[in-house]
Amino acid sequence: MPKKLLLHIGGREVAASDGGTFDVINPATGETLYEVSHATESDVDAAVVEAQNAFDDGRWRNIAARDRARILNKAATLLTDRIDEFAELESKQVGRTLREMRAQLRRLPEWLEYFGAVAQTQEGTSPNFGANHLNVVRRVPLGVVALITPWNHPLLITMKKVSVALAAGNSLVIKPSELGPAVPMVLVRLLEEAGVPGGVVNVVPGLGRTTGKALSEHRGLAKIDFTGGTETGRVIAANAGKSLIPVTAELGGKAPVLIFDDVNIAQAVAGALFAAFVATGQTCVQGARILVARSIFDEVVQLLVKRTKDLRLGNPLDLDTQVGPLVSQNQRNIVSAAVERARQSGATILCGGRIPEGEQFTSGWFYEPTVIADVTPEHDLWCQEVFGPVTLIVPFDDENDAIAQANDSPFGLAASVWTRDIGRAIRVGNTLDCGIVWINDHHRIDPSSPWGGFKASGIGSENGLDAYRGYTQQQSLIINTADEKFDWFATSDDVRYS
Ligand code: NAD
Repeated sequence: MPKKLLLHIGGREVAASDGGTFDVINPATGETLYEVSHATESDVDAAVVEAQNAFDDGRWRNIAARDRARILNKAATLLTDRIDEFAELESKQVGRTLREMRAQLRRLPEWLEYFGAVAQTQEGTSPNFGANHLNVVRRVPLGVVALITPWNHPLLITMKKVSVALAAGNSLVIKPSELGPAVPMVLVRLLEEAGVPGGVVNVVPGLGRTTGKALSEHRGLAKIDFTGGTETGRVIAANAGKSLIPVTAELGGKAPVLIFDDVNIAQAVAGALFAAFVATGQTCVQGARILVARSIFDEVVQLLVKRTKDLRLGNPLDLDTQVGPLVSQNQRNIVSAAVERARQSGATILCGGRIPEGEQFTSGWFYEPTVIADVTPEHDLWCQEVFGPVTLIVPFDDENDAIAQANDSPFGLAASVWTRDIGRAIRVGNTLDCGIVWINDHHRIDPSSPWGGFKASGIGSENGLDAYRGYTQQQSLIINTADEKFDWFATSDDVRYS
């Protein structure tokens, strides 16, 4: 029997106002895991109203920063105690391997600790306004913030946004992905157990075209923080524009991996393999185009294909499994269609490129890790984000050619550069047109380190001090300290005019 998940509004679990539900399916087995209440437009409105009430009466934002931080630290401890349970839930609902989810979730308490510390160490400024005034500038929270999140790292992405939004004193309405709502919903209960008052964090699960649309069009919001596809991002940013509210958007990518000829080939290939196939390739920073110096191209191809064929595909709950299924049938159809188009247009499928055979793969959305050669800028696949276990491998002639190929993309989220030449690493890194560049590494993240894309990969960034600033606004308090009369329109001479 699937478990029931309700909406979380005003500190209470409630069914959708029209009784509607949707199902969450285990992508490895096809089993229905949850029957989730589907928030209607009026449920979304109720959640925004509750969040606004919580903001207006100051039950969270007026708590001293040190006490807010204590509550966030308590939530971090509660989360640490439940990592294994949450990792299993994540793995079941989105098919990510248990070994990945354990490694990822173990880091999440750091976000609560980091932003709790940031909130406590924030200080205002006092600009030099002049002799007769004292100017105090401080940062205040925004109000009700909408968080709209994707399914690929359900808890990590929710945590990145929730920790900073709460640390800054805001109230929240979260719309988790319809494919992975369970763990974000359990997180809310954990936050309230730690001491976040009811009404401050509200959750309205539902589909994007209904619940997500109603939330992003709601006129009671002070900000929208969105992570998801670039096309959805455009729609949401347009809605935010109508309300004149800021939007942070973490969108799609097609990250290049640049491998120069001075590398240790085994290490660089291990890095490219991780970049391409962790999360079954379903990450925004997936190493989707592996660019390799022509002199070592054949050797890299040979080893990458061998290592790709050796990846163990299977049940994500099995700790030996290295690659799980895709999240849904729809996602597998997208991946398989993209590979077929490439095949039809002359690309060479070096390995994978098909649904695996075998009893264990029949009820899930599995797809073999795939490496494709002979793809040029004329192919769709050069720029299109596939969001699956598919990577391209392409030779380059020299540093300039590598940079030109890497930057030839509408996206600008991330890239990695593999070289032992420090000058080249910095030179190339500086020239890449993207928000995150790893040198001899890929996909590393820290709560203190900005995460955001250039070009069609987004607006603004998560993590770090800038993210905190993005969840606050400046208020300038200007205090008259002069003991003199002022009356601009007075007719007598015994008053100051300026
Ligand atoms: P998506 O855009 O389909 O959905 C993301 C969220 O938006 C979901 O909650 C969905 O219900 C909601 N949504 C969909 N249509 C909407 C609408 N019209 N109005 C309001 N909300 C709507 O993305 P996805 O498939 O869940 O996630 C995959 C995408 O996310 C990929 O493109 C990936 O690159 C991107 N992503 C980016 C980052 C990053 O940090 N840049 C991180 C993870 C994922």
